Amino acid sequence: MSDCIFCRIAAGEIPAEVVTDDEHFIAFHDLHPLAPVHVLVIPREHVASMAELERLPGETVAGLLPFAARVARESGVENSGYRLVANTGADAGQEVSHLHWHVIGGRPLGGMV
Ligand code: AMP
Ligand code: ZN
Repeated sequence: MSDCIFCRIAAGEIPAEVVTDDEHFIAFHDLHPLAPVHVLVIPREHVASMAELERLPGETVAGLLPFAARVARESGVENSGYRLVANTGADAGQEVSHLHWHVIGGRPLGGMV
């Protein structure tokens, strides 16, 4: 059993509120949402962060942006706007060491930083 919390969500070992998924990715609601829409997109395969992106198959990497755009559309923020964020490493405050992107929207989000 993995000790990575997002691997365990991907394996169905711990519950998550899944929005949508496909063979490469799972999208689920963030446990502590920062906005009305706050969904996490994770690859099923474990890599720690963007720093290890090259470990993912090219097909998975190519699928990310279309998948995230679909999550935004299905979450109802395609027209109102949203932000796609990957916190990477210490300065970005990355808490979970399984690559993930935040899809955040549903209200004006203010400045970038
Ligand atoms: P980051 O700071 O980019 O590593 O973000 C990690 C995010 O994962 C935070 O927004 C947490 O609220 C979220 N999170 C941690 N554990 C869970 C969980 N079990 N289910 C859903 N979201 C989680
Ligand atoms: Zn993992």
